Amino acid sequence: MNDCLFCKIIKKEIKADIIKENDHAVAFNDINPIAPSHILIIPKTHIESVYHLNENNSYLLSKMSDLANDISKNIIRATNGCRWIINTGDEGGQTVFHLHMHLVSGRKFGWPPG
Ligand code: 5GP
Ligand code: ZN
Repeated sequence: MNDCLFCKIIKKEIKADIIKENDHAVAFNDINPIAPSHILIIPKTHIESVYHLNENNSYLLSKMSDLANDISKNIIRATNGCRWIINTGDEGGQTVFHLHMHLVSGRKFGWPPG
């Protein structure tokens, strides 16, 4: 999608600190980290949010999960735990409308979220 920030990162039109990618997903550092490690994992094709997942594209969520676990185990070594977050829609706190998982780690997180 032409005016999507994360599509521009995928196309390398906007610079990002890319950590790793697989055939269907890319991981890069969040520009405004909320934890010692804050990584965004996105599908390489434009999907607006989890509401736009369906039986034809939901395998991409699994590709994102594979990348998240690979990074957790082999790159950031988040052995004390981590949190996966997918904000969705206005009340969910989503600000970029290209599906993304936040992988945050390196400190203790509270519950419930604010
Ligand atoms: P959301 O609020 O939609 O769940 O998360 C969007 C995330 O994208 C935020 O954590 C924000 O810091 C991050 N972000 C926004 N613009 C950029 C950017 O240009 N580069 C990177 N790496 N992250 C960004
Ligand atoms: Zn996009």
